[in-house]
Amino acid sequence: MNDHRPQQSPLDVLKRVYGYDSFRGKQQAVIEHVTAGGDAVVLFPTGAGKSLCFQVPALCRDGVGIVISPLIALMRDQVEALKQVGVRAAALNSSLSREEFFAVRDAMRRGELDLLYVTPERIVTDGFAELVADARIALFAIDEAHCVSQWGHDFRPEYRALGVIGERYPGVPRLALTATADPHTRDDIVERLGLTGARIFTTSFDRPNIFYEIAERDQPRQQLLRFLSRHEGESGIVYCLSRAKVEETAEWLNGQGVRALPYHAGFDRAVRDANQDAFLKEENLCLVATVAFGMGIDKPDVRYVAHLDLPGSVEAYYQETGRAGRDGLPSEAWMAYGMADVVQRRRMIDEGGAADEIKRVERAKLNALLAICETAGCRRQAILAHFGEAHPGNCGHCDTCRNPVETWDGTEAAIKALAAVYRTGERFGAAHVIDVLVGNVNEKTQRFGHTDMPVFGAGKDISPRVWQSIFRQLLAMGLVSVDHSAYGAFKLEPEARAVFRHERQVSFRKDRAPAGRKASRGGASARPDRANLAGAERDLFELLRAERLSIAKELDVPPYVVFPDTTLIAMAKMRPRDRLELLDIPGIGETKRDRFGDAFLAVIEAFDG
Ligand code: ADP
Ligand code: ZN
Repeated sequence: MNDHRPQQSPLDVLKRVYGYDSFRGKQQAVIEHVTAGGDAVVLFPTGAGKSLCFQVPALCRDGVGIVISPLIALMRDQVEALKQVGVRAAALNSSLSREEFFAVRDAMRRGELDLLYVTPERIVTDGFAELVADARIALFAIDEAHCVSQWGHDFRPEYRALGVIGERYPGVPRLALTATADPHTRDDIVERLGLTGARIFTTSFDRPNIFYEIAERDQPRQQLLRFLSRHEGESGIVYCLSRAKVEETAEWLNGQGVRALPYHAGFDRAVRDANQDAFLKEENLCLVATVAFGMGIDKPDVRYVAHLDLPGSVEAYYQETGRAGRDGLPSEAWMAYGMADVVQRRRMIDEGGAADEIKRVERAKLNALLAICETAGCRRQAILAHFGEAHPGNCGHCDTCRNPVETWDGTEAAIKALAAVYRTGERFGAAHVIDVLVGNVNEKTQRFGHTDMPVFGAGKDISPRVWQSIFRQLLAMGLVSVDHSAYGAFKLEPEARAVFRHERQVSFRKDRAPAGRKASRGGASARPDRANLAGAERDLFELLRAERLSIAKELDVPPYVVFPDTTLIAMAKMRPRDRLELLDIPGIGETKRDRFGDAFLAVIEAFDG
């Protein structure tokens, strides 16, 4: 950029620097508001393009934009990406040497810095105040603003101090940005960050490019492997609840020929950094992780997020699955879910040390997610409804829409199931109660005298597998619970009474036939190729990808920092012939054109498809 920045319009900046023709959704409204000096709270889902909401105003306004970001790794990536498009960006963090620090300070004083990334703990120090004393500040952007709220799971106490920015730097516009949708967090951001006068910008939280699937758990590893086979050559995340399961799963996947690396908070910093770095820089890697992984990862081409265990809330599920498909290209969110999840999650709440009030909230949060797991309706509609957003349903892009689930009136079956639990003294878990229902004469049913009960064999017209599903649903509905202190015995909940008395109807979903023969009926088969390319375009795309990878390796940056997939796809389709035509490709601004253009033009020219 020029040292003396002429007045630039946001649209000029968008085109010249980033290579995009138009703003998306409400980006323009935010950018105009902030460029004119207004404060803003921006609540857009992942992938909506929040970064441009502060980057563009920072470039249009005089002075340096200060960006508060919680993670050093994230800062490094964003600064790297900005440098590639010719924006003068730097990060202030503890890893800077004295010389580097002075260089940043001098650049700032001379007005030669467009954006400066800072950690929240640093921004309130005297050192920072001194640093910016002689500089002009274009704006403050508080990224991942939900970290200020104790409601979310990313609470960071350092964020609480950021409320003083408004008093300390009056007249400088501030924006807070987050992809968190829930109203509690929203209110916390406004209040804690002193943004009561700010304009609030929200958009739909729908992620239309994500295909949602929640599969009944059957043989989880085989199911996972089948799922991953739909994503060969792509990168994604597999979430597990425990560290041990992370390690076992990663090891097993490697044995199956899937390149996988583990990540959890128990590894040394060096291991975590190395595995995260590999995930960012390689194009075909499955990262198996606990939820310790993910915040601030803005890799745009995460093609799938798989859950081998149930998250604790819809908020967590939405946030974790939301890491897929930031670039807007087709992506999948897949989860294997079964009775054990319900039991395990309830137990974590019951046995956790939280106060009763908090436990109640956690139970309610879990139940909301269970309702989504057990719904026979559109998953997307159910997810958005949780965030207070109306969606007509029938999205056609989730497992229940693609493969409608039948429901059946299960009141009689529920009564039998509940009776079997009750008659056997609320002392047994699923396996034994189902043995009683289907009339299995074995050592245990005989020893306890259950073979003589009227309920013995009362459910033999229903298969054990379906009984399993019935109990899972009864658990999810809260009609039975599991007593952890009694080896997982089922107990009746008070609500079960109404069912006994025929005052409450129970409807069950018919689980799908176990995967296997008809395995690929889920998201897989009908899912368009990621790039929606075929034939010669596909071949050229692969060549462009190879070129990108070699440039990225040389620069030691993630490939998407060179160009995102969307840019390569457009190149493969439009086949620009010269440097001028390159500028018509979305994602190619002047700096990247000058830097990488010739290499890609050469690939296109040499291609004879
Ligand atoms: P968020 O922070 O909201 O998750 P990002 O800022 O990372 O989203 O943007 C997601 C992707 O969309 C990025 O690859 C970005 O370059 C792209 N993008 C953002 N705004 C536009 C736009 N107006 N036109 C085209 N692509 C855009
Ligand atoms: Zn749907």
